[in-house]
Amino acid sequence: MADIRTQKIVVLGSTGSIGKQALSVVTEFPERFTLTGICAYTDADTLIAQAKALHPKYVGIADPRKAEEVSTALPECRVFAGRDSAMALATIPEADTIIHGVRGFYGTLPLLAALEDGKRVALANKESIVCANGLVQAAKEKGGGVVVPVDSEQSAIFQCIGARQNDSIKKIMLTASGGPFFGWTRDMLRFATVEQALKHPTWHMGRKITLDSATLFNKGLEIMEASRLFSVPAENIEVVVHPQSVVHSLVEFVDGSVIAQMSRPDMRLAIQYALTWPERTEGGFGGLDLIGAGSLEFHAPDTKVFRAIPLAYEALRLGGTVPTAYNAANEIAAERFFTGDIGFLDIQDAVEYTIGRCDRGEIRELTDVLHADAAARRLAREFKPKATVN
Ligand code: MG
Repeated sequence: MADIRTQKIVVLGSTGSIGKQALSVVTEFPERFTLTGICAYTDADTLIAQAKALHPKYVGIADPRKAEEVSTALPECRVFAGRDSAMALATIPEADTIIHGVRGFYGTLPLLAALEDGKRVALANKESIVCANGLVQAAKEKGGGVVVPVDSEQSAIFQCIGARQNDSIKKIMLTASGGPFFGWTRDMLRFATVEQALKHPTWHMGRKITLDSATLFNKGLEIMEASRLFSVPAENIEVVVHPQSVVHSLVEFVDGSVIAQMSRPDMRLAIQYALTWPERTEGGFGGLDLIGAGSLEFHAPDTKVFRAIPLAYEALRLGGTVPTAYNAANEIAAERFFTGDIGFLDIQDAVEYTIGRCDRGEIRELTDVLHADAAARRLAREFKPKATVN
């Protein structure tokens, strides 16, 4: 593993919310970090602008229709195009560290490739851990790669645990902002619009994760992610609604002591820590004004209204390919909500419908995950909302 004080970095998903913040962290510390590569799904304009400003040697664009445009605009870069471009960028031999900000299940393949190639991965993609953790562990063992979490809650738990033994953990308390619909009833949520769902009170993020914060599917995925990242069983993970998003999660140890991690709600802090871990370096993004933050509140989540949470515990209990189905159904249901095809509460009904009908197989190899994902997507597409069933 290369010296963490001089890392050559590739950012996957550089045009997304995490990717843009990752670029600002990398460029904040030019003596430490060199930007070697960037990769995007389809936003060629932003990718080209980033490459012209920051001069990475390698550029990737997954959308093959944008390949020529990117190559022509960036004659000084080596350009990879098409579906496998993220895998190519994740395994550039001279890169040490991959900041993985690719959204969704699609991010699983570049994570596996990077770990098999021995990279250090600052991981913001939770779907890969939820859907394919066994394969992620095998890839780490095979190639010597390391995962350092970037998701704010997982980074918090990682920091709270530190060098302590896992058997000293009694409980993980995963905080949730509650999203824009905290306190809403089912009757109010029935008519929640896309615009309302995308107004997050504390975090500025991409569209899909902002919707997932409103439905609490983001928290459901994080329950599964935390259970897998830290080898803590589902029954020892508790969700606590904390609307101020200052405490990013807490760990209770067997002696009853609780350690929390706090900071301003700014993803750049978690990205910086993932890059400098196990060291801490002077921050470029500001400290916490505790008095200015005012009162900090903690509430139980309403699991009768927000079914994403009990469904996540159920998927985790069933195990195998069921968490993959949970994620796939949520990805499809979110798309259907964005296009106006289904209502807000239909998202959780679509996921419940899917995990009640999906195959419950084991995951032995990548094809098991790919098949489970595809089958669950079909189920979530065929789901009909209750109100329109004749
Ligand atoms: Mg999070």
